[in-house]
Amino acid sequence: MKKHNFSAGPSILPQEVFEKSAQAILDFNGSGLSILEISHRSKDFVAVMDEARALVLELMGLTGKGYHAIFLGGGASLEFARVPYNLLKEGGKAAYLDTGTWAAAAIKEAKFFGQTEVIASSKADNYSYIPKGYTIPADADYFHYTSNNTIFGTQMQQFPDTDVPLVCDMSSDIFSRQLDFSKFGIIYAGAQKNMGPAGATLLVIKEELLGKTGRAIPSMLDYKQHIDKESMYNTPPVFAVYTSYLTLQWLKNNGGIAAAEAKNNAKAELLYNEIDRNPLFVGTAKTEDRSKMNVCFLLKDEAHTEQFDKLWKAAGISGLPGHRSVGGYRASIYNAMPIESVQVLVDAMQELEKSIQ
Ligand SMILES: *Cc1c(COP(=O)(O)O)cnc(C)c1O
Repeated sequence: MKKHNFSAGPSILPQEVFEKSAQAILDFNGSGLSILEISHRSKDFVAVMDEARALVLELMGLTGKGYHAIFLGGGASLEFARVPYNLLKEGGKAAYLDTGTWAAAAIKEAKFFGQTEVIASSKADNYSYIPKGYTIPADADYFHYTSNNTIFGTQMQQFPDTDVPLVCDMSSDIFSRQLDFSKFGIIYAGAQKNMGPAGATLLVIKEELLGKTGRAIPSMLDYKQHIDKESMYNTPPVFAVYTSYLTLQWLKNNGGIAAAEAKNNAKAELLYNEIDRNPLFVGTAKTEDRSKMNVCFLLKDEAHTEQFDKLWKAAGISGLPGHRSVGGYRASIYNAMPIESVQVLVDAMQELEKSIQ
């Protein structure tokens, strides 16, 4: 039986994407060859790469606005170092917002390259909220933040208004809601949360930001090299890019980001309403900062853990336990998660309530 997969990443993808990518492993485009054995420079794959890059800009409304979309290896984690390498000027400084484990990991890497100012942090409260009312230094080379904190279940609802270039780690909420993407200098995301399998990272970058640091950059770490070579400087993660391409097509054919956002709002509302209504559960994130992608909650009384775990497992749910630094439960309800699966979880929560009365 196909499980209801609430895993935080790698995570659920549309069923249609599983089927098409499985087919391409057996026979890619009727070529008599598997997608796994073709040259990345073959005509058919170059077309996939070009279309995937164009689709990203189209979905974000960035076509013809001075942006490039490229697919890279190394995970979102490599961007933690590649961003300062490409943007932090010799003698300059970068500003960071510390909203969780991934933000902290990005800050750690930036420190290798120069002055790194953490302008606000919610660490003292186990990252249960998004800091507000901070000031971004006007002389910073860029301001980096995480739009959705996958582990702690918080999500940025308001975006800073500043002339400093915005760099955003959107790994776990990219393509989940409409934003004015032209406000960003760099957006990056590991594919495996809302777009594809592990192995590819999407980077969307405004070209005018590059070439200003005054330092030489090794080729593989230089965004300009990857842009100039149209994401083919070296062998790209072919299968991960192809599968991401299928997801992007699925997104476009189903109404784009606007339609995905409406569904995501409905799913999040259904689940948060149950967490707030059901006397056995409590959410961990501050209400106004709750994530619509990763819903974190606890049992008020841990004595019910065994029984609740039995109930959701019997309902065919997988991947529900929370990250070890938060505990409890985390329901990741990315774009591909149908509302019917969220209802199955809500039913299990209600069943627990009934069995206890
Ligand atoms: C998962 C995640 C990462 C790390 O991604 P890798 O691809 O494993 O390097 C970084 N940032 C956020 C917000 C994430 O959710």
